[in-house]
Amino acid sequence: MNFRLARLRAEMQRRGLDALLVSFLPNVRYLSGFSGSNALCVVTRTGAVLVTDSRYARQSRSEARRLQRVITALPLPEALNAFGVLKRLRTVGFEAEHVPYVQYRMLKKLFPRISFRGTTGLVEDIALIKDASEIDSVHRAARISDRVFGEIISLIRPGVRESEIAAEISYLLRRHGGERDAFEPIVASGDRAILPHARATTKRIRRGELVVLDFGTTCNGYCSDLTRTVAVGRVSRAARETYALVREAHADAIAAARAGMMARELDAVARERFRRAGYGRYFVHSLGHGLGLSIHERPRVSPLSRERLQAGSVITIEPGLYIPGVGGVRIEDDVVLTPGGCKVLTGASRELMTL
Ligand code: ZN
Ligand code: ZN
Repeated sequence: MNFRLARLRAEMQRRGLDALLVSFLPNVRYLSGFSGSNALCVVTRTGAVLVTDSRYARQSRSEARRLQRVITALPLPEALNAFGVLKRLRTVGFEAEHVPYVQYRMLKKLFPRISFRGTTGLVEDIALIKDASEIDSVHRAARISDRVFGEIISLIRPGVRESEIAAEISYLLRRHGGERDAFEPIVASGDRAILPHARATTKRIRRGELVVLDFGTTCNGYCSDLTRTVAVGRVSRAARETYALVREAHADAIAAARAGMMARELDAVARERFRRAGYGRYFVHSLGHGLGLSIHERPRVSPLSRERLQAGSVITIEPGLYIPGVGGVRIEDDVVLTPGGCKVLTGASRELMTL
């Protein structure tokens, strides 16, 4: 934590900020260790204060040991005033992407003498590169996802509802040591699988359909994110060919991924493979995203990204094709980038399984 605060302070100094008001909970957790659902963290040039409510008195004491703590019954911005947390500060940054307008107005009203400056990505810049214990947490969450995939396939058969499979996935993730769903599990079968972010519905899975399963859990707050596509009974030749193409694009991207390349170059590896095969228009999302305390974080691995991939970043690689009349196929793994390549953290089989 100290190293993170030191890096943040160096950046605050560069930007002329006396303090940064951190309100995005994954960032509060990243800086303080505190994992509760209501908190602000104020990092000044010399100190750091965690402000939370009385429900979290004990939890904050054990989790945020190195920080000064304010426990309050007041709304948190008012507590900043009542406890003098921002006293003598002139220029205070806030997380522009995460502060609701009403809270911004309240801050301006409570602290008329402070100049508040919207900042973006200050903590995210530091969180981009994971240390060994963070990577270990993602890896543990990834292994739980692998195990659940291995077990869930025995429950997928014609007649079962998508929602039943989703419920079993959530149950098994918890049963095997995950803390919570990293996001609502996606179970999308047949025509519904052509929606990349379909929720599980009460639709029954039918013979001859592809089923996309996308789920993850957390360990120490760190997320895993795994997608596999399975066939229920015999699927069409077009479906099998689509699967084979996605698998090739996935393998190409894993082979190419390394620190030092531009994120958009990595995206292009898979996108080009689809384009050359004449399927370019069916790849409708980015190749991947950063993974950490949030399920979607930097770097974006998309054609629009201007970032260079860095060693120690954890990203997903998830090419997919969504073809009306054929179905959807996506294969997603989590990898940590190294200077020479990448290490794959998820290990579930990528062969097309026919259930
Ligand atoms: Zn996913
Ligand atoms: Zn993902």
